[in-house]
Amino acid sequence: MRRKNILAIAFGLAICAGALPLLAAFYISRERAFNLERQHLADYAEWTLQRGDLNVSRARTALNLLASEHRQACSADDVVRLQQVTTDTLSVEEIAITHNGRLICNSWGLARGEAVLTGEATLLSGGYALRLHGGGLSVPSSDMIVISKGDYHALLKRERLVDVLRDTPMLLGIATLSGRLIVVSGEADPGLVARLVREEITGINDGNVFASRRGKDFVAFAISSRSVVDWRTGSELWTLIPIGVGISLALIALIVWLSRQRLSLAGELATGIRRQEFLAYYQPIIELSTGRCIGAEALIRWQKPDGTWISPDLFIPFAEQNGMIGQVTAIMIRKVISNMTQALTEHRDMHVAINISPQDVETGEFLTHINDAIEGVNVQPEQIWLEVTERGFVHGDVARATLEKAGNAGHVIAIDDFGTGYSSLSQLESLPVTVLKIDKSFVDAIGQDAVTSVVTPHIIEMAHSLKLKMVAEGIETAEQERMLRQSGVQYGQGWLYAKALPFEEFMAFYEKRNAATQDNELGSAESGASSDFSPLNG
Ligand code: C2E
Ligand code: MG
Ligand code: MG
Repeated sequence: MRRKNILAIAFGLAICAGALPLLAAFYISRERAFNLERQHLADYAEWTLQRGDLNVSRARTALNLLASEHRQACSADDVVRLQQVTTDTLSVEEIAITHNGRLICNSWGLARGEAVLTGEATLLSGGYALRLHGGGLSVPSSDMIVISKGDYHALLKRERLVDVLRDTPMLLGIATLSGRLIVVSGEADPGLVARLVREEITGINDGNVFASRRGKDFVAFAISSRSVVDWRTGSELWTLIPIGVGISLALIALIVWLSRQRLSLAGELATGIRRQEFLAYYQPIIELSTGRCIGAEALIRWQKPDGTWISPDLFIPFAEQNGMIGQVTAIMIRKVISNMTQALTEHRDMHVAINISPQDVETGEFLTHINDAIEGVNVQPEQIWLEVTERGFVHGDVARATLEKAGNAGHVIAIDDFGTGYSSLSQLESLPVTVLKIDKSFVDAIGQDAVTSVVTPHIIEMAHSLKLKMVAEGIETAEQERMLRQSGVQYGQGWLYAKALPFEEFMAFYEKRNAATQDNELGSAESGASSDFSPLNG
């Protein structure tokens, strides 16, 4: 990726990172505001219901009291008693007594007119009746409801039933369970009111937020405008915006830091290539049946001038993504062959394996570099092994052509990290691959209760049937070595023997190991001991 691309991507990500938390803060605020308002209205509907029940139960108590005192004679005493009970009962405006449906007296005195109890009655719990108008007992009657028990009647102002103190603007209403609306505290959409009276719901529509609650005699509801939600959103935002801004800033800072890292890694890698700051280290490869060192894998090491080491797991993928791997591979090829020429010439059974990236396979340039490097020196092409990962076969035909060319030139081709990619062993049959490197993860699984431990013997068996040689990577224990050797895996490398070593140390390891192995073999032959080799640590 070029500098311009890194900057463009970083800029795009920074804008997203800045905007997304703020948008999320707004969205969450709005959701919270809706939910709060819905709960708020549900609470008010509940309180309205309680208020309605309370008023009606006060009226019932008053009516029961008068009925128990038998006041239907309407004597002067009785009228005084009616007045007294009316005054003592909060929310009851008037009490009346009828006989055969005609008014006899009320808390104002004896009836003079011919007032008759009218209006359809709704039955309430406990045998009480409710009429939605003054029922002919009171003038004007339209703002009154009547609660009746036999001939005793209590008149209440409708508004009393929704007389609940509110902390935000809203409409409150109450209706009978049968759906007869008693009162709404303002103008409301009749369709919405009908819905709220019918079922217990909370919700939001285009213009309103609403909630209803049902009790044993009544259903109460509360409706507010969506503008209340806007107002609530605003106050929620005050809490969330600082958090959103904090997250935005943190993300932007992270992106700036990462892009600076990438920009600086790109710059440093370019410098590293120009100044050839890379070293080739060598990890010994051991023949498991004899314990002999038969070669090495060349592994790149990068030490910057300030002394810090950068892991190949970090900069190799970066070089691959940024079009620099070709130069890195070329440097490694030159270094490895210049280090190893003498050793390879002296020991014809020794090899060195060089890692080749998928992009190298695509261009095929590495072959020219190897040719140039071994031309004129006495190194055989089969002493140079090439390690290609499964990703190297992605570009099918191109990969095949390059690898066939390499195979024809005499190099040994090994498939690296086998089992971690997607290729199957049968796919390998058609490629000029002769060595399979079993990935460390499968070696780690040996003797463990892991899922991969089932796969390892399978891979080994298939490789045998395809007549592929195997190198097991990352052997760390004698137990792993023993199992691999018993399964017929020919070669291995790992910290059990040695880590990747600078060239001179590798050569010292090689000489010492093979001298020791020779002694051991001689000793074993003389003493007639088992030929099973016990590994020597280098
Ligand atoms: P790889 O080719 O699979 O190399 C094996 C890695 O496993 C090496 O890591 C090696 O040091 C490590 N290893 C070997 N034995 C053991 C062990 O017993 N235990 C543990 N924990 N690790 C072990 P390294 O050197 O860090 O290289 C990492 C990867 O970087 C290599 O994996 C290879 O994919 C890449 N790489 C290294 N050098 C080159 C190079 O010159 N060119 C290219 N294209 N890639 C390279
Ligand atoms: Mg390798
Ligand atoms: Mg590997």
